[in-house]
Amino acid sequence: MSAAYRRVLLKISGEALLGNREYGLDGETVERIAKEVRHVHDLGVEICAVIGGGNIFRGVSGAAAGMERASADYMGMLATVINALSLQNALEREGVNTRVQSAIPMSTVCEPYIRRRAIRHMEKKRVVIFAGGTGNPFFTTDTAAALRASEMGCDAILKATKVDGVYSDDPVKVKDAERYDRLSYMEVLSRDLKVMDASAISLARENRIPIVVFSIYTHGAFAEVVQGRGRFTIIG
Ligand code: UDP
Repeated sequence: MSAAYRRVLLKISGEALLGNREYGLDGETVERIAKEVRHVHDLGVEICAVIGGGNIFRGVSGAAAGMERASADYMGMLATVINALSLQNALEREGVNTRVQSAIPMSTVCEPYIRRRAIRHMEKKRVVIFAGGTGNPFFTTDTAAALRASEMGCDAILKATKVDGVYSDDPVKVKDAERYDRLSYMEVLSRDLKVMDASAISLARENRIPIVVFSIYTHGAFAEVVQGRGRFTIIG
């Protein structure tokens, strides 16, 4: 195997599943992401994924509309379970064995989160999809990604985005935004670069897990990145 990493955690935001839609899930986009994951699985890399829920519901929006924040956050966590089941389905159609584990036990639809069992699944070459975030309100799925990557002993967090790395500004809006190849955790925090939230960055830093930002929309990019090639920004 020529991969640079033995075990990785893929963080996919809910928005990555939107495609051109404004809300919910785009089947073709989920299928495309599943194919990218299969390529990496074929390289023999052990994969787990944390999936967001922003395409369906965000706690902060619920709170802004007058809901109690904790209840709204639980709704957001439930949204991630919908996304996880969708990705599971698409991966199984690609012939990849998977398990979904939720931080909020939901035994009719998926396994509860059990750390040692998740590790065993990966050793057996199953892709483990973590749903339900951290299981706690007032957190994000970015923090869940840093937490699970730490618990799983992952070699890297691969943060899937729409663009091929971290920029000084939004490259879609600002034409001359600077793209970085490499950044330190402290640079991300002090310059307030929009990569992941501060608690996720801090947790990754404490556990010395590099964060690799790449484009999930570029065909073959995920497989290249796990082999240390292609375009990405590495934070370490
Ligand atoms: N959430 C939460 N605790 C967690 C993870 C998520 O309360 O540990 C809720 C929160 O309301 C958040 C929503 O779930 O807005 C969806 O997650 P997130 O915004 O991280 O999704 P993404 O931006 O990755 O799509």
